[in-house]
Amino acid sequence: MDALSDGARVIVAGGGAIGCAVAWEAALRGLDVTLVERGTPGREATWASAGMISPSGHTAEEGPFIELALASFHAYPAFVERLAGYTAEDPVFEPVGKLVVALSEAEVGELEAFKREQAGRIAVELIGGDEARRMEPALSDAVVAAAHVADDYRLDNVRLGRALWDAAARAGVRFRLGDSVSAVLSEGGRVRGVALAGGGELAAEAVVVAAGCWSGGIRGLPRALPVVPVRGQMLALQAVPPPIRLSVHHGSTYLVPRVDGRLIVGSTRDNAGFRATPTAGGVSTLLAGALQLLPGLAEARVLEVWAGLRPGTPDNLPVLGADPELPGLVYATGHFRNGILLTPITGELIADVLEGREPRISLEPYRADRFVEAS
Ligand SMILES: Cc1cc2nc3c(=O)[nH]c(=O)nc-3n(C[C@H](O)[C@H](O)[C@H](O)COP(=O)(O)OP(=O)(O)OC[C@H]3O[C@@H](n4cnc5c(N)ncnc54)[C@H](O)[C@@H]3O)c2cc1C
Repeated sequence: MDALSDGARVIVAGGGAIGCAVAWEAALRGLDVTLVERGTPGREATWASAGMISPSGHTAEEGPFIELALASFHAYPAFVERLAGYTAEDPVFEPVGKLVVALSEAEVGELEAFKREQAGRIAVELIGGDEARRMEPALSDAVVAAAHVADDYRLDNVRLGRALWDAAARAGVRFRLGDSVSAVLSEGGRVRGVALAGGGELAAEAVVVAAGCWSGGIRGLPRALPVVPVRGQMLALQAVPPPIRLSVHHGSTYLVPRVDGRLIVGSTRDNAGFRATPTAGGVSTLLAGALQLLPGLAEARVLEVWAGLRPGTPDNLPVLGADPELPGLVYATGHFRNGILLTPITGELIADVLEGREPRISLEPYRADRFVEAS
């Protein structure tokens, strides 16, 4: 994309972690940014998440995604430090590590494969069940082995959302809340602004689509954007004192302790359209998974159950960068299960695109027209 001049107007559609991080970074680089958010910033997938920042996380496939994930992972400590210079809201960044546990010999084999996959990326130490219980005494006797990943982070995603909103506002981003972008407007073959659902238009030289799983509903895009909602259910137990210090993973179950005494239990994955409602079946799966790992939780109070909508794409990869056909249109969406992990790198790379700079990571694999070519 052509470079925008200093002070050029940019509209960011969507105020989740991704939209706020992009807006913050773009404002710091001298652009005049307005963020349009339909509801409250940080209250959708960003709020619903578990806040795990794990490069070995949810999309462990080979290929370019690993480079993106690792770059964001390594950027995190400096990112949260910089955030602290703009807001008093503390996202409680905890670089503490995690245990991935095995309950059977077959699962021990999976841990060995996991260690091989991660070689050269992050250190994984395989330990026996007793060693795992020495690290985390509340773990069930059924745990026969574990992979200890020391280099793994987590934070409080709800606070991250508020921190990014605050930091962006303090950096000069204007927030237009309670209205949504209904269409991207173009004229003479380039973007000229957006139409608002509440009526009226906002003029801009560039528009960043960062509306999470709702991104594909914005009109005026040059082609269909297949970002779809993928529901994830979660719950929180009260666990004081915290029964575990490290995050604990097993299959699709993970347990993430918070400093406020909540223990987050995640997660399910299904397609339920735009219905972000927890279900009896989902909650029962989560509780069964949690009690299998930490039997002592049986008496823990259930504090909250919720569901969120991950922005999924057909290939599970995000859509990032300038539209190949419509100058001024930029995407920062489709982060699926990795949006919290990818927040720092997305802010940086999208600000590079807006500035007309070559990003340090190629955005070619994340082009918006790749689905058309594939079909
Ligand atoms: C249960 C669950 C657990 C997760 N756990 C993790 C995890 O541990 N680690 C991790 O890295 N990721 C995790 N994720 C994924 C992560 O939460 C998402 O990838 C990330 O939050 C996406 O951020 P976003 O800003 O793109 O979307 P959102 O946070 O959904 O924000 C999009 C925003 O756009 C607004 N909006 C929508 N349409 C419009 C419009 N037309 N105009 C204006 N505003 C609009 C919405 O109101 C919303 O605020 C999890 C997700 C879920 C659901």
